[in-house]
Amino acid sequence: MKILQEYSLSELKEYLDTLNVKRFRAEQIFGFASNYVEIDQMSNIPLELRETLKQEFTSTPVKIHSEFKSKDGTIKFLFELFDGNIVEGVLMKYKYGNTLCISTQVGCGMGCSFCASGIDGKVRNLLAGEMIGEVLAINKYLGGGLKDKRQITNIVLMGSGEPLDNFDNVVKFIQRISDPQTINISERNISLSTCGIAPKIRKLADLDLSITLTISLHATTDDKRQTIMKIANAYSLADLFEALQYYYKKTKRRIVFEYILSRGNVSQADARRIASLCKGMMVHVNMIPINKTPNSPLVPASKEKVTEFFEELKARGISATTRRTLGADIDGACGQLRRRILSELQ
Ligand code: SAH
Repeated sequence: MKILQEYSLSELKEYLDTLNVKRFRAEQIFGFASNYVEIDQMSNIPLELRETLKQEFTSTPVKIHSEFKSKDGTIKFLFELFDGNIVEGVLMKYKYGNTLCISTQVGCGMGCSFCASGIDGKVRNLLAGEMIGEVLAINKYLGGGLKDKRQITNIVLMGSGEPLDNFDNVVKFIQRISDPQTINISERNISLSTCGIAPKIRKLADLDLSITLTISLHATTDDKRQTIMKIANAYSLADLFEALQYYYKKTKRRIVFEYILSRGNVSQADARRIASLCKGMMVHVNMIPINKTPNSPLVPASKEKVTEFFEELKARGISATTRRTLGADIDGACGQLRRRILSELQ
């Protein structure tokens, strides 16, 4: 089964040519698909053509399975995929608009010790069309449409999965979702978060996208990073920052670092090491309070230590903010909700 939204308007026109269907139909179908309308519901498309399309395509590849509303307005969604797999997304409401956090894989193969998504490993990659489906389903859920009726303003690829381990699908997703003829979410409003697969960061740099690259850093020495993130055994901090310097030179885009505030990991020395690794690049550090997950070895750092760390970053000219903890009452952290629901379903 193919996913209609993976086609650009011109690709859809070419496809319809092969069926000898008039090209204006492509615009109609494309509009419906961008609004996440099921093929059966594409009201002004002739029945026969709908039947033909249905044999090859779906236009609603993910369905909202359930939703969990937090007191703070955050909504966590579970999406059901065509094969019964479940992934999660989180909708966060900010003053400037609605940010949707989406998943890029079912499960995750990276095995970071603090993260619930990796506990059972990677099940499969999401297709580009499934990631588009996550966005379009929620845009529709919010009563949104296209252009000025769009409800989703920002996307973060920070749900379950490692986006750079699903490179081609993720790039295709970014290209389709930022297409002005569809929902048109500008690349500048899309953040891609990675645990730091250095060669893929270089490959991404060569595509010259204007997305924001976010790195899950979480430690400032190889020794420490290796104890919590398996990827640190494959790529040292030196490898990672060489790739990041390359990325920065190519794109001139500010790089964001995510840094979990765990005991033993937030000292003045850590702040100094971050400053020295980031020399020459415009960066921002997002300080993240730990969300407790099963088996996680991490313990929260004390307030005093966090202040020391923050002040030292500031003194070295590095901007840093603490991430708001949204949705803590609904298992907001990566992989938490899916795990709980799956274990309840079993
Ligand atoms: N694989 C990608 C994206 C998914 S994780 C990556 O590694 O960046 C998205 C973010 O959530 C990462 O920064 C990750 O470190 C953070 N995260 C995962 N589990 C967490 C937890 N228990 N507490 C706080 N942050 C967590």
